[in-house]
Amino acid sequence: MDKTACTRCGREMPLKRLKEVVHEEGRSRIRRLVCSICLDQIMNESSRVRGVVGTQKAAAAHIDHGVGSGERQSLGQRG
Ligand SMILES: [Zn+2]
Repeated sequence: MDKTACTRCGREMPLKRLKEVVHEEGRSRIRRLVCSICLDQIMNESSRVRGVVGTQKAAAAHIDHGVGSGERQSLGQRG
């Protein structure tokens, strides 16, 4: 009944088995529900992960993309 899909790979599974992931894009905070497999991949790609309190889950993973990445370079090209 309460089947939900992972927002990354689209696999359907109960909400209980999805993990909440939080990250910032510019000034806005993005929340996504992903399966444990996707969470592993996201954590591997990110430079830092810390636990935070989620809105849909009791615990969420906050992803930091770190500094010195491509995002900074694209900002610099504006000037
Ligand atoms: Zn997934």
